[in-house]
Amino acid sequence: MDELVEMANWFGWKSPYNPAVVDSLPTPSFKAKGRSQLSFSTNNYLGIAASPRLKAAAIRGIEKYGVGNSDSRLLGGNLALYGELERKLARIIGKDHAILFATGYLANIGALSTLPRVGSVARAFGFTSKRDYSYAYFSDEYNHVSIREGMRLSGARRYSYRHLDLDHLEHLLRRAAESCKIIVTDGVFSQDGDIAPIPELLQLAERFNAMLYIDDAHGAGVLGASGGGVLDHFQVASDRIVYMATLSKAYGSIGGFVVAHGLVTEALRMMSPAYGFTATLPPDQAMIISTAIDVVVDEPERRRRLWENQRYFVKRMAPLDFRLVSTETAIVPVWLGEDSKTQALAAAIRAEGIHVDAIGFPAVSLRSGRLRIQMNAGHRREEIDRLVDILERNQHLASPRRRAPAARLNGKRHPAVRVPAPARVEAPFMAAK
Ligand code: PMP
Repeated sequence: MDELVEMANWFGWKSPYNPAVVDSLPTPSFKAKGRSQLSFSTNNYLGIAASPRLKAAAIRGIEKYGVGNSDSRLLGGNLALYGELERKLARIIGKDHAILFATGYLANIGALSTLPRVGSVARAFGFTSKRDYSYAYFSDEYNHVSIREGMRLSGARRYSYRHLDLDHLEHLLRRAAESCKIIVTDGVFSQDGDIAPIPELLQLAERFNAMLYIDDAHGAGVLGASGGGVLDHFQVASDRIVYMATLSKAYGSIGGFVVAHGLVTEALRMMSPAYGFTATLPPDQAMIISTAIDVVVDEPERRRRLWENQRYFVKRMAPLDFRLVSTETAIVPVWLGEDSKTQALAAAIRAEGIHVDAIGFPAVSLRSGRLRIQMNAGHRREEIDRLVDILERNQHLASPRRRAPAARLNGKRHPAVRVPAPARVEAPFMAAK
């Protein structure tokens, strides 16, 4: 307790902490304190969380099964619909095997903490292996906090490579002595919006006989011709890939899943306590997700509107003094640098009825503040114009424009992916949301 008191005084924590309370959830419009507002920072990218089809699925699910699943699926809670949903999730990613977790966060914690430990767990049951296996993770420095926590819990050796720097990754892979290597990356980086170069990462994985673990929380349902995410976007497939995504963003519900070779999903089912020692998501949510997968595919106009809005916003921002951290995905962060500027600009925007997330330390490194603009299928042109007009009136807050260096591969600039210019110190936590 004493340390907490000291820290509270040092940080100047006000007690209790009061995060903003909202009266409704962004669709992207919402209400707070009785006032109508519009969100440019919601993960409900396609606006399907409140769609009539999803609501109807929830009602059907509740009427059929009740509201919760109080058991583990390894015990009495294994309704057939979970297995059906897993097969459907595997199919959209082009594989045969998937495993569901109660949240995306838990999927990362569960999978990453378990993969390097399956052998030692099996040894406790008397298993002996023909040779010794040792594991190491190779993780992009900007990966989500749930990845970092999952890797830490595994006890395996962890190497961190500079954001999108494939030369640095290659150097670390070459030097590492561990026999089982696992490269880990966000598909779309949650605070930067840039896309990991999956084909090149896969080539490195092949060269160094490694696995490639991809967290596609912000790509699933959004990227790719049919909304299949980052693998659909790049049209890549491999048994080396362990694909993880969340169901709480574009799919509008809750839950996480891992799609991989059947040996991987089976090992996780047997060995991951985050799967076996906890209740799973309620049955109505499983029915919602199954419907959400259909909505993404058979209501393609949602994705079309999202990308039209994204392109329109990027185009309207081009003449302004602000630097955009990336312009490839629905996350288009506006770079401010200093946290005080980030807060000031977010407040100016909010004063005009538009909500934007001000991201600062510790979600990103010190002096790496940005507004995390997330484009949405439900934004209208005039609403985007309104946001751009406010930004235009506040251009004095823009940090000087800087040219962003590209990601590097073989000492050359990587053509597909660009990274923000400023070097960032390692943050204790990443990606709070
Ligand atoms: N990974 C990434 C990259 C994320 O952005 C998030 C959510 N912020 C998660 C995992 C966790 O997902 P969930 O909120 O569904 O638990």
